[in-house]
Amino acid sequence: MKEGKLIVISAPSGSGKSTLVHALLKQNLPLVFSISATCRPPRGKEQDGIDYHFLTPEAFQKKIEENAFVEYEEVYPGKFYGTLRSELESKWSDGHHIVFDIDVVGGLNIKSQYPEQTLSIFIQVPSFEILKQRLRARGTENEALLLERVAKAKIEVESAPEFDLVIVNEDLEKAKKEMFQGVKEFVNS
Ligand code: 5GP
Repeated sequence: MKEGKLIVISAPSGSGKSTLVHALLKQNLPLVFSISATCRPPRGKEQDGIDYHFLTPEAFQKKIEENAFVEYEEVYPGKFYGTLRSELESKWSDGHHIVFDIDVVGGLNIKSQYPEQTLSIFIQVPSFEILKQRLRARGTENEALLLERVAKAKIEVESAPEFDLVIVNEDLEKAKKEMFQGVKEFVNS
């Protein structure tokens, strides 16, 4: 099986990462999105098999026991997220490069397992105040969950220097350009 490249995009929740990932996938490059598994319930218009593979906590646990994950994390208390080995293999066999929207620990984990073929990108928020405002505007979390996400973001930014590329998402168009440029160079190298 020919293995494609891996583009890992990690960032605190609310950094605009999903917007950037969606824009990247619309570029004229052979990229596909790695659909993670999670045991959190769907949010808003999220669909099973498109945004995530939504599993029950029991089914997720069973997959852990079967060693079905390349990596998995308890990203928030009781909320597990992971990349299925089968997801990677099927997308590689289709001849694609794979884009990951995963947390910082998971991103660095993938990078350490596939160092040569992975480009790790960290999306930085301009400030924690802006992060809070963005999360409030999104309105998908209650205040306690929102503060949990901000607290996690404060820990995550400490790992930014370990990534290959750090992009500050202050101006969305500028951030998109920087990301497209970095990814294009990497997949064509
Ligand atoms: P959300 O609940 O907002 O969709 O995602 C919460 C966090 O989990 C985000 O930082 C997201 O990138 C991360 N995440 C999503 N899928 C995975 C995965 O497969 N592995 C890891 N380690 N983190 C993930």
